[in-house]
Amino acid sequence: MTVVTRFAPSPTGYLHVGGARTALYSWLVAKAAGGKFVLRIEDTDRERSTQPAIDAILEGMEWLGLNWDEGPHYQTKRFDRYTHFIDKLLEEDKAYKCYCSTERLEKMREEQMEKGEKPRYDGHCRDNPNVSGDRYVVRFRNPQTGSVKFNDHIRGPIEFANTELDDLIISRSDGTPTYNFCVVIDDWEMNITHVVRGEDHINNTPRQINILQALGAPVPEYAHVSMILGDDGKKLSKRHGAVSVMQYRDDGYLPEAVMNYLVRLGWSHGDQEIFSVDEMIEYFRLDDVNKAASAFNTEKLNWLNQHYMKALPVGEVAEHLQWHFSDQAIDVTKGPALEKIIPLLADRVKTLKEMATSARYFYEDYESFDEAAAKKHLRPVAREALEAVQDRLASLSEWNAASIQAAIQATADDLGVGMGKVGMPLRVAATGSGNSPSLDVTLELIEQEQVVARIARAITFISEREQAQQ
Ligand code: GLU
Repeated sequence: MTVVTRFAPSPTGYLHVGGARTALYSWLVAKAAGGKFVLRIEDTDRERSTQPAIDAILEGMEWLGLNWDEGPHYQTKRFDRYTHFIDKLLEEDKAYKCYCSTERLEKMREEQMEKGEKPRYDGHCRDNPNVSGDRYVVRFRNPQTGSVKFNDHIRGPIEFANTELDDLIISRSDGTPTYNFCVVIDDWEMNITHVVRGEDHINNTPRQINILQALGAPVPEYAHVSMILGDDGKKLSKRHGAVSVMQYRDDGYLPEAVMNYLVRLGWSHGDQEIFSVDEMIEYFRLDDVNKAASAFNTEKLNWLNQHYMKALPVGEVAEHLQWHFSDQAIDVTKGPALEKIIPLLADRVKTLKEMATSARYFYEDYESFDEAAAKKHLRPVAREALEAVQDRLASLSEWNAASIQAAIQATADDLGVGMGKVGMPLRVAATGSGNSPSLDVTLELIEQEQVVARIARAITFISEREQAQQ
C-alpha cells in the first residue's frame, strides 16, 4: 500500500508556524515511506478564503522546500463529487432530509442549554415520515449506539461514544456540502492513508470515521499534532513576533534553519539537535511526536540559523543573502562576491537580514559615521595615523590582506604607536563603524581606491569637527 499523506489548509491567512509544522510532519511521513504528499486547499468557506492567502500558503511551502506530489486540489472545484455522494447516502437512507426550521432548532438549543445539556440535534426528522417542506438540509444518520475508536499516532487510543455525536449536517439548505463531509470525500478519493493535522480537529475525527464507514471507504490512520505556545506559555500569536513562515524569511532566517527548528518543536531523536532534511526523513516517526504543547523559543531558532549560515554550502547561503540585499536596495554588483563576505560575517550576526545590513559598506559608501565610533576614534590625535596609513595603502602595488596588514604594521612602527592606534581610526574610516571583521580582509574586499577615498573623508571629518569646536 502506498502511503499518501496530505496537507489541507483553509486559505484564510498566511502559512503560520503551526501549519508549517503540520505540513512538515505530514510531508516527512510520505517521504520516509517513499509515498505521496498531496496538497489540498480547503476553500469552501468562500467568505473567508482568499487568493492572496492561497498564494501565501503556496509561497511558504515552496520556500521551505515542502514540495507536493499531487495538487493543489481545490475543494471548490469538486462540488460535483460531494453532491454525488450526498445523493448516494440519501438513496441508501444513510442520510436524511431535515426540514426543521431555524426557529425550532434555536428553541431546542435554548432548552437544552437551560437544562445544562450539550446542544445537539434531537433527531426530529430522522425517522419521521410526516415531515416535508421546501427548505431542507441533509443530515448524516449517525449510529446511535456503540462508539468510534481510533488509535491516534500521537495521542494513543481515543474513543467517542456515538451518543455524544448528533446527526451532522452534510449539505446545507442551499445545497452546498459542509466542511466535514468534503474532508471525508477528499481523503477517500485522494487515497489518503495518514491524516496528520492539528489537535483542534480531534472532535471531527469520529464524525468523519462514521461517514467513511457509511460510504464503505477505508479509514485512514490519524495523528493530531498539538499546539504551539509562545515562550510565555500562551497560544502562539502575533504578540510573540513572527508567526507567518514568510515573515521568517523577511527577518533573515534560512529555510533549513526553520525546517530544523520546526521538526524539533515537538519531536526529538535522542539529543540530536541538527537535522539535515535527509536525516529528518530517516529518523522521523509520528509515534515519537510529543503530545504536550510545544513552546516556541526564538533563541534556539537563532542558534540554528547561525549554524546553517556557517554550515551550508556558501553558494546556497549567498542566494538567500542576495534576496536581503535586494530587499534593502543594496546593489551588490559593484562589490565583492557574496561568497567572500559570508564566511567573514556568519559568526558575527544572527540573521541574513543583519548580515546584509552590516555588509552594506562593502558595496556602497556609508551614509555617515557611527556617532559613538567617530567620537571615540576620529579625533584630532588620529589624523596623523590616518594620513600616514593612507599614504602607505595608496602606494601598495598589490592589494591583499597580507600587504594591507604589513602597511598598517609599518605605519604603527613609524609612529611608534600600538596597532590599535592606527587600526581603530582606519576601521571607522573604512566602514563607518567601530565594528567589522578582521581589518586586513575587510579592506581587501572594499578595494584600494575606495579605502583611500574613505580615509580622506574621515580626515576631512576630523578637520571639520575641529573647526566647528574652535
Ligand atoms: N482545513 C483544515 C484546517 O486548515 C484542516 C483539515 C484537515 O486537515 O482535516 O484547519
